[in-house]
Amino acid sequence: MVAWAEVGVPVPLGQRWTYSVPAALAPRIAPGARVLCEFARRKVAAVVLAVTDRPPEIDLTKVKPLLAVLDAEPALPTELLRFLEELARYYLAPIGEVLRLALPAVEREVVRALEEQGELLPGEGPLRSRQVGRPVLVAKATPRVEEPGRLRGQAAAILAWLRANGPTPVAELASRHGNARSALRKLGELGLVEEERRSVDVGALHEDEVPRDSPPELTEAQREAVRRIGEGFGRPEGFLLFGVTGSGKTEVYMRAIERCRELGKGAIVLVPEIALTPQLVGRFRARFGDEVGVLHSALPEAARHRMWRKLRSGELRIAVGARSALFAPVLDLGLVVIDEEHDGSFKQEEGVRYHARDMALLRAHRAGAVTVLGSATPSLESLALARRGRLSLLELPERATRAELPRVEIVDLRRIGPGPTGERLLSLPLHRALEACLAAGEQAIVFLNRRGFAPAVLCTGCGGVRTCKQCSVALTYHRRDATVRCHSCEFVGPLPPRCADCGGVLSLEGLGTERLEDALARAFPSARIGRLDRDVAAGAKSSRILEKMRRGELDLLVGTQMVTKGHDLPRVTLVGVVNADAALSLPDFRASERGFQLLVQVAGRAGRHERAGRVIIQTYNPDHPAILCAAAHDVRRFLDRELQERADVGYPPYRRLALVRVSAVDEAVARDAAADLARLARTGPSEVEVLGPAPAPIARQRNRYRFRVMLRSRERGPLRAVLGVLARATAKLHRDVRVVLDVDPVAML
Ligand code: ADP
Ligand code: ZN
Repeated sequence: MVAWAEVGVPVPLGQRWTYSVPAALAPRIAPGARVLCEFARRKVAAVVLAVTDRPPEIDLTKVKPLLAVLDAEPALPTELLRFLEELARYYLAPIGEVLRLALPAVEREVVRALEEQGELLPGEGPLRSRQVGRPVLVAKATPRVEEPGRLRGQAAAILAWLRANGPTPVAELASRHGNARSALRKLGELGLVEEERRSVDVGALHEDEVPRDSPPELTEAQREAVRRIGEGFGRPEGFLLFGVTGSGKTEVYMRAIERCRELGKGAIVLVPEIALTPQLVGRFRARFGDEVGVLHSALPEAARHRMWRKLRSGELRIAVGARSALFAPVLDLGLVVIDEEHDGSFKQEEGVRYHARDMALLRAHRAGAVTVLGSATPSLESLALARRGRLSLLELPERATRAELPRVEIVDLRRIGPGPTGERLLSLPLHRALEACLAAGEQAIVFLNRRGFAPAVLCTGCGGVRTCKQCSVALTYHRRDATVRCHSCEFVGPLPPRCADCGGVLSLEGLGTERLEDALARAFPSARIGRLDRDVAAGAKSSRILEKMRRGELDLLVGTQMVTKGHDLPRVTLVGVVNADAALSLPDFRASERGFQLLVQVAGRAGRHERAGRVIIQTYNPDHPAILCAAAHDVRRFLDRELQERADVGYPPYRRLALVRVSAVDEAVARDAAADLARLARTGPSEVEVLGPAPAPIARQRNRYRFRVMLRSRERGPLRAVLGVLARATAKLHRDVRVVLDVDPVAML
């Protein structure tokens, strides 16, 4: 008979709380079950982490009883619950916050709604679907346009979200943005947003039907990969599928899923940015039909909730989604696939800073499932795992369609001047190549990693650059609405007529995608040009632009790294990289690796089918190894070189890192707190090297000064010990100080 339950409450708290279990509830109390309990004088939904019949060693008179069980079956399968606990330990994250990752917002909101209506009786059974479909408060953007400069922070972000994604439940906005409700009030007063009650559609799972496909005959290399993955289910084994762009990795994933389903098991497929890969999702649906649940952030919360329920009940067996799909309650997990495993978007950079690739390996390992990590440019971390025998290497060295990899030319911008436009970054060779491509009726992609019109606003009098008042970041000029914007905090303001310091004339410096589009439109007046970056295309809109490209309604596509993702656009024969150096020069030890990946990925969009492809890379550093190796399609050589370099300087994958991120509104407070933590860290085991404190590369962001301390160690154990000490110490710091412990950091800015 269970008598006590330890629960986690889905709030950012780390503790586990003990409650007593009334006899009437006992039969249905199990780990993973959601329960209602009194917490801080409120009724909250919590998740049972453990049950016991032995009295815990605490003051039992203070222990309160659980009030109700919320589901017939535990909401979280045991496998998923144990994984979440392990993830919380790994990242030193509060278990409550980790539980939130796995429970859809609606699951949390419904309890509140039921409570308000007094509908929930002690011990009452599972939630009924009619309650999920009842009207909820929804916010939507009005057609009104805001005054430039009036909005900033969350209000600007929420308005942008609503414009991009359509009406959204208020509860969902609140779960994304802490102050959503006050931001919405402000937007309401400005007439920019309206709220209304409506039933959120929980009808069809997918809007459209996808015709079933027939699998192609596998290439030799694909067959071998599929065979070895098939054998892996018995062990289970992890694989690194290293296949050139267009080598048919997706087909291998699908055969692996087929095998997994034959064994009666479920699968999870993680893709970097699902809004950008509708085509890929379509391929999974075409193969597996109604077994597939697609989870993505643009999905209305109610539909996502429905998907979650169907996965939990076993009606759906395959979950496809971005990093959060890692927490899908897939039953009897047999396979986890991570497409483009090198992609930075698998690391969550807020809240629980988990890495979905690392955690996928953990979840799969614990569940006895096979993992397949696929990429044309594997991360050094995964490559190192393969070298150590922890992952088995599978290779697809050729394109599945037998198309050749594109020819790559490097344009040395130090020597080669501009084409007829006079624009320095539109060199004569790139101009001529675009001309030829258009004349042949083919399509081109032009990649530039900077959105906006001009990335700097410079005073010609005093030479000063306009920077954000809240961040140490230069403002970007956006011509569409004649604003300057901070890409770090979303500040938006009007372009000042003159320099505020000296009254000098301002000059718009540099090239962003907006200006590039403009320059191309002037150079090629008859070309149909589309642009893909965060300013024009959030969520569903980006897939519409890509669809136009696929249908041949556009000739040129200009964009940021959104254009580099695994798109399969058959008529693209030319790819131009406007400035290869931008990514390579970031103050980050992964800059070279990241730049290389971008180059190979974007080059991989060219000439994937009948017609040969051509790539032009413009650079001021034509001898940079990342550029030379990308031009030669020599991924191996680059990876070997880079691995050696990481070994020499002592960085991952040869060392373990943790970043202690410290910030405060007051610079001295932040610096002192960072120094205190660094001093404390230095009292720990000597295997842990403590570097810093030092100001972060973006030294100030959203009005907070940022410092950091880096911890570095060969082994994980001592590093964890130090982090544990720091985690306890942060509670005693000045209350204005915010400390984030980032285990295995990715973003170094
Ligand atoms: P990757 O994910 O490796 O970049 P894709 O899976 O997108 O490559 O495949 C590239 C193209 O090759 C797609 O159009 C796909 O339909 C096609 N393809 C994949 N496997 C085969 C095969 N065995 N025979 C013919 N075409 C294939
Ligand atoms: Zn800013």
